[in-house]
Amino acid sequence: MINNTTRQGFLFIISSSSGTGKTTLARKLLASEQEASSDKKSSLRMSVSCTTRPQLAGEVDGEDYHFIDKKTFRERRQRGEFLEWAEVFDNFYATPHAPVRAALAGGSDVLFDVDWQGAEQIHKQMEPELVVRVFLLPPSRAELERRLVARRRDDKSELDLRLARAAEEIKRCKEYDYIVINDDLELAFTSLRSILQAERCKRERRNGLEEFVSSFTLTTSDESLLKL
Ligand code: ADP
Repeated sequence: MINNTTRQGFLFIISSSSGTGKTTLARKLLASEQEASSDKKSSLRMSVSCTTRPQLAGEVDGEDYHFIDKKTFRERRQRGEFLEWAEVFDNFYATPHAPVRAALAGGSDVLFDVDWQGAEQIHKQMEPELVVRVFLLPPSRAELERRLVARRRDDKSELDLRLARAAEEIKRCKEYDYIVINDDLELAFTSLRSILQAERCKRERRNGLEEFVSSFTLTTSDESLLKL
């Protein structure tokens, strides 16, 4: 017997420049996978980051983030416990390594929406065959600007900075395995799901394949039927 649980999991990384839609698409992918799994144990997990920033009202420790203090952060970083880390506005963010390994060993895939720096750090620490990287592109510079404005998160100078950065970040798409253009959201989502599905079917990720194939070994009566 062979089934979809006898599979080596992998890291599914979605990167883009800010405002292209990686958060939107990552959430959509996660929700669709949860819906599709009958036992509520989705085979796609989102990695939970550690952060030193204060916990906001409504946030759940261990679900939204693992909230830790700066001293603990530094100690854990020193011990090499993080797959990647970044400092943003005086606070640290990181992806702990151990839960990712545990998920992979259990046949789950782990979803990341990270910028190219995060993707690069993760890629360096993992076996390359366990990492699948997708870069999302906006359909045009004008549309990227429209989305950044629609998000209403930035003032004019931040907006200009994000657009200037996008020009540089987008060049990194060359390091990725797949390129998805996020023009129509549903089409982009379908592409992402197809990539995920195809990667799951890769022969190298299929544990127990040889044993399964040999369980079909010819019996004497098969041989006589085939006149061998
Ligand atoms: P990122 O995580 O890459 O910074 P977000 O997911 O926050 O980007 O998306 C930025 C904005 O663009 C959001 O307002 C989102 O609703 C919108 N958006 C995302 N994808 C599309 C799309 N295909 N068409 C139109 N708007 C989109």
